[in-house]
Amino acid sequence: MDKQDSLLAERMSGLAGEGAMEIFAKASAMQAEGRDIIHLEIGEPDFPTPDHIVQAAVAALRDGKTRYTPAPGIPQLRKAIAESVSARIGSPVDAGQVVVTPGAKAVAFFAMLALLEPGDEVIYADPGFPVYASMVSFTGARAVPVRLVPQRQFGLDLQDFAAKVSPQTKLIVVNSPQNPTGGILDGEALQAVAAAACRSNAYVLSDEIYHWLQYDDSFVSIASLPGMQERTIILDGFSKTYAMTGWRLGYCVLPPDLVDAVTRLVINSNSCTCTFVQWAGLAALEGPQEACEAMALAFRRRRELIVKGLNSIDGVRCGRPRGAFYVFPDVSALGIRSRELAAFLLETAGVATIPGSAFGVNGEGFLRLTYANSEHNIQRALERISSALGQVRGAGEIRPRR
Ligand code: PLP
Repeated sequence: MDKQDSLLAERMSGLAGEGAMEIFAKASAMQAEGRDIIHLEIGEPDFPTPDHIVQAAVAALRDGKTRYTPAPGIPQLRKAIAESVSARIGSPVDAGQVVVTPGAKAVAFFAMLALLEPGDEVIYADPGFPVYASMVSFTGARAVPVRLVPQRQFGLDLQDFAAKVSPQTKLIVVNSPQNPTGGILDGEALQAVAAAACRSNAYVLSDEIYHWLQYDDSFVSIASLPGMQERTIILDGFSKTYAMTGWRLGYCVLPPDLVDAVTRLVINSNSCTCTFVQWAGLAALEGPQEACEAMALAFRRRRELIVKGLNSIDGVRCGRPRGAFYVFPDVSALGIRSRELAAFLLETAGVATIPGSAFGVNGEGFLRLTYANSEHNIQRALERISSALGQVRGAGEIRPRR
């Protein structure tokens, strides 16, 4: 076994797993053994994929849409994506700048593989979506975390950001609304990031997968700021917007100089994205949007429910997220590390959550819960968490059963 391990390439040591996927696997195994588990760990809408999208996939299959497509995607889908993103950023997008991928995660990987090498630095928010830092270190570049400010609804710490930008900064990753905190980049932060990217001649990877779920104000893409479209890689996909997590359909809008490189990465890794899934994606963009609007309304109601419920539990403080479908309550007053707390809640209450520390060092003291679950289940989870913590509070210590 030692010998086998030593055969792994050195770069594999930089590539981490993902907390959400690992806890989901554990919670699902417990469920398979008969435990009643409420899943508040994995960020996927609990709604079914809208029927007209499913029908489009079935029709495409029956119509023989089962062969390879051009590597960057079918022209019809690239055009529809270009139009949709163009409306979002308020300026023209050429279909030739769009590359369709098997899931949005692949965009981050392809962009980083295309751009980064040892010596380069990449700025990202901590706490943040953990795969960014993992992918950066896989390329041999340096991941440079910037703090968020919990007291300001997890806005970017602009002082810390300014201090971290350097001539080596090659890429700045932004994600707004954000996973795991639900924070957003406000106008001042967008301006600061744009100015820094221009100064350092860096690209911005703008993860806009939750752009459709910003609650109190309208979404602004950093690509819409002057001079930013030519240095912004927009990452997005169908997983969250259309409840299509298992379909694996994502895309990017690239500065023209990156299209060829990312297309070659697609050719060398997956050839093209699943053909009938691309046709389903076209139906998603061109068809009725009522199902997405209904989902967004449901998330808005659930946000109120979970924030209120968490704040009524002793030792838990939860701000109201500004977007996405996650809450990131401060649980530091409970006096237990977030990893142990998540393990305790899974074992004792049957509620799966993710420790804040899975999202970076600054996530310690917090827990991530998704409200992509029914109001009924959220209510049950809140009752179970409250009761599990109530039973041990005062006893001094919470110990997960081993
Ligand atoms: N970006 C963020 C911020 C996410 O939270 C996720 C999924 O959790 C993704 C990207 C990945 O999306 P996909 O399922 O399309 O790969």
